[in-house]
Amino acid sequence: MLQNPPAEPGMAEEEVDTPALLVDLDALEHNLDRMAAFAASAGIRLRPHAKTHKSPVIAHWQAQRGAVGQCVQKVGEAEILAWAGVPDILITNEIVSPRKLARVAALSKMTNIALCADDAGVVALIEAAAEAASCRLTVLVEIHVGANRAGVGSPAAAIALAERIASSHTLIFGGLQAYHGGAQHLRDLDARRAAIAAVADTARAVVDGLAAKGIACPAVTGAGTGTFELEAASGVFTELQAGSYAFMDADYGRNRPAPDFRQSLFVAATVMSAAREGVAVVDCGHKGIAIESGLPLVHERPGVTYAGASDEHGQLACAAGTKLSVGERLRLVPGHCDPTVDRYDWYVGVRDGWVEAVWPVAARGMMA
Ligand code: PLP
Ligand code: MN
Repeated sequence: MLQNPPAEPGMAEEEVDTPALLVDLDALEHNLDRMAAFAASAGIRLRPHAKTHKSPVIAHWQAQRGAVGQCVQKVGEAEILAWAGVPDILITNEIVSPRKLARVAALSKMTNIALCADDAGVVALIEAAAEAASCRLTVLVEIHVGANRAGVGSPAAAIALAERIASSHTLIFGGLQAYHGGAQHLRDLDARRAAIAAVADTARAVVDGLAAKGIACPAVTGAGTGTFELEAASGVFTELQAGSYAFMDADYGRNRPAPDFRQSLFVAATVMSAAREGVAVVDCGHKGIAIESGLPLVHERPGVTYAGASDEHGQLACAAGTKLSVGERLRLVPGHCDPTVDRYDWYVGVRDGWVEAVWPVAARGMMA
């Protein structure tokens, strides 16, 4: 069942029922503008990752600013975006079940859709799904670039898989998927620089090897909010996939330097107990805000820290002389934006203290 919408347009922010997922629309627009301007000036395509926002509305705002399409991680996310009219979607992931591949093939009739592979057996399954649906599917080869996730392990293996895809009558070779998740939160810029230099070297070796065989590589795509400037400067990437930049979170705030975006995503919470000295309790525990990348920060309330989470309770520590009262409202900055968004059915878009928009988190829970 859907959660009750916690607000409606025209309400004051302090009337929004909590816990609620707040988006500061000025900050969101600032972030979207800034990334769009960066991509335009760097001469690189921007395909933001919808795993962060799960929202056709935000996808639309990104497209208005020049984004070439969206990335998704799951077929269900691709369906929500395609049904909402997003015209170009890349599944940055391995889809290995024939049932899911049939759904991808069906989507190819209403949107440009591509997916990744790192296995010849799966390429054969994708080919069979395309044949069964009488469509052509675009497949990118995912190369392993250090995150210990998916991806073929050597340039030679990538070239062999690309040749296999390129020689198929039903498949189109779409290029290389080269996302280094582990590099995004390396705290130190030099460490991130070294990691992405190695990624670029690997990708370049594959592109050059393909060229030597007469196979053009239409795209090299990757990058996140922690490293996108480095991929853009590499000369080998053609497309950026950052997602979190739209919202930001406390974990990205710990990078040095921190990505130059504003915090636009918050969870609004209410103090529900302040019965004991030095502590207070809000109505948002870890069911309401992701804590696996660190506890939330309390926004603009000096002396108050979020000290611990149980399922439905957030425990606040109040410094000497700081007193919170029952009913007081706080904005929490999530430790990690993506899984926090996935806990809510509704975004409450606020500007200057007023609710301007209430949008569904349309692809919430799309795990399959
Ligand atoms: N691309 C891929 C394949 C990802 O898995 C992610 C996030 O995990 C991103 C892009 C976006 O990264 P970020 O949200 O850190 O900008
Ligand atoms: Mn994330």
